Amino acid sequence: MRTIQLHLLLLGWLLALSCARPVEKPKVIAHRGYWQCEGSAQNSIASLVKAHEIGCYGSEFDVHLTADDVPVVCHEVEIRKGVFIPQVPYDSIKDIRLPNGETLPTLDQYLEKGKELEGLQLIYELKTDAAPERNRQAARVAVETVRKHGMEKRVEFITFNLEAAKELRRLAPDMPVYYLSGDLIPLQVKEFGFTGINYYYKVMLERPEWFEEAHALGLKTNVWTVDDAEEIREIARLGTDFLSTDIPEEAMAIIADL
Ligand code: MG
Repeated sequence: MRTIQLHLLLLGWLLALSCARPVEKPKVIAHRGYWQCEGSAQNSIASLVKAHEIGCYGSEFDVHLTADDVPVVCHEVEIRKGVFIPQVPYDSIKDIRLPNGETLPTLDQYLEKGKELEGLQLIYELKTDAAPERNRQAARVAVETVRKHGMEKRVEFITFNLEAAKELRRLAPDMPVYYLSGDLIPLQVKEFGFTGINYYYKVMLERPEWFEEAHALGLKTNVWTVDDAEEIREIARLGTDFLSTDIPEEAMAIIADL
């Protein structure tokens, strides 16, 4: 009898402990690197270095594949008026300069620099603006290039495209893959075998229960792109694991004060 009472007491105590456990603070990801500072630019090597300097968990960047299969780091698919990255060879765009004077970085250059920046995760957004076969090719090139640099533990994939996400999961079962589109419930994301959801923060504010649902399924949660101080506080209190922002330094200070 005494043993049963002791067990019940222990169970109650453990339950109370788990309920009282404070929500862990989110880790901050610099969206397109830390670019709103001197000498930086979106998706530049400098933005990667600066994200590391201020102690971000990760630095996000966008990758398009050129017509001759060179992955380049750039957000816009139309890199110059009428010039679309998937339609042109790398040679024809390699000298394009970013606003901070750097030339257009290739994925190789990005990973090479990233490797030196210990402790910083590289959040690789696979861009998929072309045909399905080209998207699968973009996924293949992504995984091959990351493996070539031995960066499997330092790179995390994100993509809006479900087919590309499935291909990444198939090719790299050992690496994190997050889905960005916000149109799947956490259970579906779990069934596809993805690591977690990385949804627009307003989607998550409308469905705050998804944080808990995702966590209960063993999924991680990330949100994009929160640039307002009050909304950063609100999202952080909901218990997200990660938060992507264009103001990483400020966001980290806000989160530290919570
Ligand atoms: Mg992106």
